[in-house]
Amino acid sequence: MGRIQQLPPSVVTKIAAGEVIERPASVIKELLENSVDAGSSRIDVDIEQGGVELIRVVDDGCGIAPEDLPLAFASHATSKLANAEDLFRIVTLGFRGEALASIGGVAQVTLQSRPHDHPLGAELTCHGGQFSEARAWNGSPGTRLEVKHLFFNTPVRRKFLRSTPTEVGHVCEAFTRLALAHPKLHLTLRHNAKDVYEVPATAGLRERLRLFFGAEVSDKLYALEARQGPVVLRGYISDPACERGTAKMQYVFVNGRCIRDRSLSHALQEAYRGLLMTGRYAVAFLFLELPPEQIDVNVHPTKVEVRFRDSQALHHLVFSAIRERLRAENLTARLQAPALPHAQWTASPMPQASTRPGLPEVTLPFAPASKEPPSQLPEGESPEASGEALEEANAVTNGTPAPPAAPPPPDGLKAIQLYDSYLVLETLEGMLVIDQHALHERILFERLKERIASGPLETQRLLIPEPIDLTPEQAARTLEQRQALGELGLGVEDFGGGTLLLTCYPAILGKRAPRAILKAVVDHLMNKERMPNREVLLNDLLSLMACHAAVRAGDRLTPEEMAELVAQRALAQDTHHCPHGRPTALLFSRQELDRQFRRV
Ligand code: ADP
Ligand code: MG
Repeated sequence: MGRIQQLPPSVVTKIAAGEVIERPASVIKELLENSVDAGSSRIDVDIEQGGVELIRVVDDGCGIAPEDLPLAFASHATSKLANAEDLFRIVTLGFRGEALASIGGVAQVTLQSRPHDHPLGAELTCHGGQFSEARAWNGSPGTRLEVKHLFFNTPVRRKFLRSTPTEVGHVCEAFTRLALAHPKLHLTLRHNAKDVYEVPATAGLRERLRLFFGAEVSDKLYALEARQGPVVLRGYISDPACERGTAKMQYVFVNGRCIRDRSLSHALQEAYRGLLMTGRYAVAFLFLELPPEQIDVNVHPTKVEVRFRDSQALHHLVFSAIRERLRAENLTARLQAPALPHAQWTASPMPQASTRPGLPEVTLPFAPASKEPPSQLPEGESPEASGEALEEANAVTNGTPAPPAAPPPPDGLKAIQLYDSYLVLETLEGMLVIDQHALHERILFERLKERIASGPLETQRLLIPEPIDLTPEQAARTLEQRQALGELGLGVEDFGGGTLLLTCYPAILGKRAPRAILKAVVDHLMNKERMPNREVLLNDLLSLMACHAAVRAGDRLTPEEMAELVAQRALAQDTHHCPHGRPTALLFSRQELDRQFRRV
């Protein structure tokens, strides 16, 4: 007998199942998708022991005709596709006809279904690939699928399963993804007879986001909408303050399907460049709608990856839409101290300002003298003093009349310095604490960026070129980037044997040691695995130079320097974050102060 054999169908099914069904959550995903494709308006999911012992999905969708029932478990049997061309106009979640066959191959499945126009439904079981005869079933219209003892006939797979809580976590994730993509569905999830999620049908995605992720996330989201030809991008992106250590909270949906896509994740990450620190990720829920012929969904067994006809255009759409949306917001970080428990202060409520008896008048050194008539601020001097911000602030006080707005500070730019590192100032919106280094860094960065757009930076020539000893590799790497460095005003020449000559440096750096900056540049170049493109490189190097040239924490500033720094804050772009994504200022809002001191 030859050595090559045709595998028996039972083995083929198990192999196929290995691709599609990895754990209970994969079963849930497939069954939920089938229910959605069936046009259901309500889906109830019950699981036991993390779904390993039982998964039951009941829907009120179109149902399956009794004569079709046996075919539902056959592999490559589907009602969603007729020919090869259809593959490029997929409007359903499923189309491979493999899910039920795979699940039936590795579990004990009962399928019961009845189309709405049938007086009677039918049921069928499939245990490890073995079908029963179809029997009449007298249930309500829709489909009911019960999957018991997952992997009962593939013990190795069963061993790969994790603890019950972990499996429940995966199930919840699959459930959440589907619920986010279909806000009009009523969904429930129960584990061991206890409610996990009860998700009513809703018109709005934000409501759903609040239900799944709480107000902590949903209150920090900005709505997004953009178009590019027939492609529509909608969704929500978070304020940079709402960030995470992983990209898990970045959801991307394409035509109702939750997918992973490196290029789109990259676009998202790039859009937040400079607003988040390295290794941090914003929360985002992006929904792309595009004509089905522009995507190929048939590239991955569980369809978590798709291929786009024009991936670059989508990258651009996502990047620019998010960037613009963030530009439109005031992203100054807001400080919110947790409120004291109610009981701690109700005993002796703080008297209102008007009825305050016998308290000595305390005037803070930077507070405006309250007797003076409020002076009008010159336009644009206080970035915080916009009418919109005030309106919004007043709205937050929830019906209680807002305290009379304080007279605008006579000089909105007066600041005091703390620890030679922070500036504190009074603004109309609240108390602003500025990190002097971070803010100066951003200001210099923006100024340098603007400057360099119109030609190389001005340089300061060194009378005697400064030799800088490097390893031969470092020297070579640096010389490769000679042109980019030249644009930045850093002149280097090869002196041989790993030594470079620094001939000039950017004038903007003033007295800072040019040698230190070149060393930092070299370190930066060496840390890169792959040379970034010119734009990214310039961006990196500019931020490095800005960092070096900026005032440091620990530098005592003169009042003029402080005033200058604060004034610049209103003029430069994106001053709420330094180029590395750290916030440059924290706002302790007036309401928050009043709330903390029980004045409201
Ligand atoms: P696919 O979804 O890729 O078509 P499946 O194996 O998941 O393949 O399902 C096979 C077929 O069974 C589907 O094409 C559909 O006709 C039918 N089916 C499965 N689940 C349901 C359901 N909940 N309601 C109605 N029909 C269903
Ligand atoms: Mg399916």
